[in-house]
Amino acid sequence: MNNQDCIFCRIASKDIQANLVEETEHSLAFWDISPRQPIHILVIPKRHHANILELTINAPDELVDLMRLGTRIASEKSSGSFRLSFNTGAEAGQTVFHAHGHLTSRTPKDQLA
Ligand code: 5GP
Ligand code: ZN
Repeated sequence: MNNQDCIFCRIASKDIQANLVEETEHSLAFWDISPRQPIHILVIPKRHHANILELTINAPDELVDLMRLGTRIASEKSSGSFRLSFNTGAEAGQTVFHAHGHLTSRTPKDQLA
């Protein structure tokens, strides 16, 4: 049920380029196009779900896969301090209506003294 009108579906199908980090069977991680912290990576399910609520209800296996990928990348790239957050609904700042976690960190591992 992926669709051509959804920018993240198009990234998932490699129709639009993104700076990829890692992928699994169900999930894809890529750098945010306008990072707001030294680490700002988006983690998405490859199949279209409008938000984290729908992903949780309709595809819990994909949710677990996404959380595993997001936290694994967080461990690899950050000092261990990070956020994995899901804007849900326009009033909460969601602008792309394909579920995605923002993995952000101010303390990349490679910048620690
Ligand atoms: P939201 O505001 O929906 O929670 O987050 C959407 C995020 O997607 C924003 O941080 C925005 O910078 C990012 N974004 C939007 N379009 C693209 C794109 O085409 N490629 C990439 N890599 N990120 C995008
Ligand atoms: Zn989509």
